[in-house]
Amino acid sequence: MSKAHRGKGIRTLANHGRGKCPVCKKDGVKILYEMEIDGEKKNICKMCKATLANAAAVKAKKEAAASAAADAAPASV
Ligand SMILES: [Zn+2]
Repeated sequence: MSKAHRGKGIRTLANHGRGKCPVCKKDGVKILYEMEIDGEKKNICKMCKATLANAAAVKAKKEAAASAAADAAPASV
């Protein structure tokens, strides 16, 4: 069950897994990645998945840095 986003694995999907990405509005791209957007599970394209994952990672890093700073100076909260 490797290659879940390519080849045989997506043949059974509607339109072979292709459609309009709800994030970037691109049509005819493979929308195989499930993501929660505004509390709703949606299938999005690879690029949007990567963008969202990167944004989440940056946010997590910032929050970690902020909490580390808060630990260093506990009186600030
Ligand atoms: Zn997209």
